[in-house]
Amino acid sequence: MGERVAIVGAGLAGLAAATALAQRGYDVAMLEARQRLGGRASSFTDAASGQILDTCQHVSMGCCTNFSHFCRTTGIAHLLEKQADLWFMTPDRRVSRLRADALPAPLHLAASFLRAHYLSPMDKLRIGWGLHCLRRTPAEDDGPFLEWLQRHWQSPRTLARFWGLVLTSALNESLERTGLRYARKVFLDGFLGHRRGFEVEVPRVPLARLYGVELQDWLTRHAVRVRLGCAVRRLSIEEGRIDGIELRNGEKVQADHYLVAVPFERLLDLFPDSAMARESYFSGLHNLETSPITSVHVWYDRPVLKWPHVVLVDCLGQWVFARGEVAAGEHYLQVVVSAARLFQGVRQEDIQRRILEELARLFPIAASARLVRVRVVTERAATFSVVPGVDRWRPAQASPIANLFVAGDWTATGWPATMEGAVRSGYLAAEAILARRGQDERLVQPDLARSEW
Ligand SMILES: Cc1cc2nc3c(=O)[nH]c(=O)nc-3n(C[C@H](O)[C@H](O)[C@H](O)COP(=O)(O)OP(=O)(O)OC[C@H]3O[C@@H](n4cnc5c(N)ncnc54)[C@H](O)[C@@H]3O)c2cc1C
Repeated sequence: MGERVAIVGAGLAGLAAATALAQRGYDVAMLEARQRLGGRASSFTDAASGQILDTCQHVSMGCCTNFSHFCRTTGIAHLLEKQADLWFMTPDRRVSRLRADALPAPLHLAASFLRAHYLSPMDKLRIGWGLHCLRRTPAEDDGPFLEWLQRHWQSPRTLARFWGLVLTSALNESLERTGLRYARKVFLDGFLGHRRGFEVEVPRVPLARLYGVELQDWLTRHAVRVRLGCAVRRLSIEEGRIDGIELRNGEKVQADHYLVAVPFERLLDLFPDSAMARESYFSGLHNLETSPITSVHVWYDRPVLKWPHVVLVDCLGQWVFARGEVAAGEHYLQVVVSAARLFQGVRQEDIQRRILEELARLFPIAASARLVRVRVVTERAATFSVVPGVDRWRPAQASPIANLFVAGDWTATGWPATMEGAVRSGYLAAEAILARRGQDERLVQPDLARSEW
């Protein structure tokens, strides 16, 4: 057997590292506090219906090359469905479709963009200029993006109907709080760099199934030992090295390398003394902030949407996803509100009412359909916040302690908090473990080739 790696946390970061290391002969054990894989990309059983619901719809994009590689490697890619057209709806119920045409990137979306009914010709000129200038900003610039937009000829309408519309859901942060670096990344990598970059992929099945049996089988076939319901209490340090893990049940686990892939808010609790928190490597974590996401789950007695999803322009909800007939006479859809601070302190019934009223205004069938059920789920710390300069607080995967590594969407990946970012962090952590043994292997997948323009 190869060297032993203990991975704490079986979210996508831990899972990606496990797949990479198991394929390279490491003896991998995963310790996960919950009774399931997938971490924040998760489902739960709805008590009212017994149905398995995703906490929130998860979407990936064509530019997520590492997430896609992970899904192909573990044999779960067939559970994702590509939605190559994006549908945009305004409060007057008019709909525009964004679709790539025959032109090469970055012009592949130009025809759809020029037809978009919710932007005036002047808006389109402003946005075109903004994108041109954005492409010319150095990748490392990370000042406040809103100020940058205001300096680059953008109007309140283009802020609301284009920049904010795209970024709030892509980054789970409001325009006012977003830094230039990740805003630039969304537009360049997601929309302009490659004709497939913007294509949305949505799981056909609940996340519990996506990161369920198939993935578990793959791990078993590759001799990864997964211990669910196995919470780690702390890691002990002796003479500058991690010398073991203590589980909450008192059991001790030892390995050659330790990879901690828990959310950043949990990391420092796992170390024995507060001195760790003062190490400069970890101290930036105190500065990371989080951003909430609210999803409203609605069941009607008939189908309400004719599209697989709709992006809502100038509305309270941001995306609506049609999830089909999940039980006889129960047509399920989910409305997602990212960076949902506006709901702080608002009663669930009020959130429900406002979203249902909006659905009834936008989709007349919803007004006459029977509402079967509705449920609001808010994840208060859904993702870390991509505020200007956030990268200076994100640690690299190799820690100053020789046999300790970290992974998670919050580590230094060059990506915002996404499934792609989490998988990248896992691959980067695996690269760092290989490098400590003198093996120089690149596991992170290349980006989609960006066209020169
Ligand atoms: C509501 C919501 C919507 C989102 N939508 C999208 C989307 O559409 N597209 C997208 O790409 N991303 C989305 N994300 C982000 C995405 O889910 C995360 O970026 C990604 O799943 C993070 O993975 P991770 O492995 O870094 O962390 P986590 O998923 O948080 O994994 C950490 C794991 O560590 C475990 N753990 C914690 N403490 C311990 C302990 N003491 N012992 C053992 N185990 C422990 C946890 O149980 C968990 O399983 C969304 C997130 C949320 C919350």
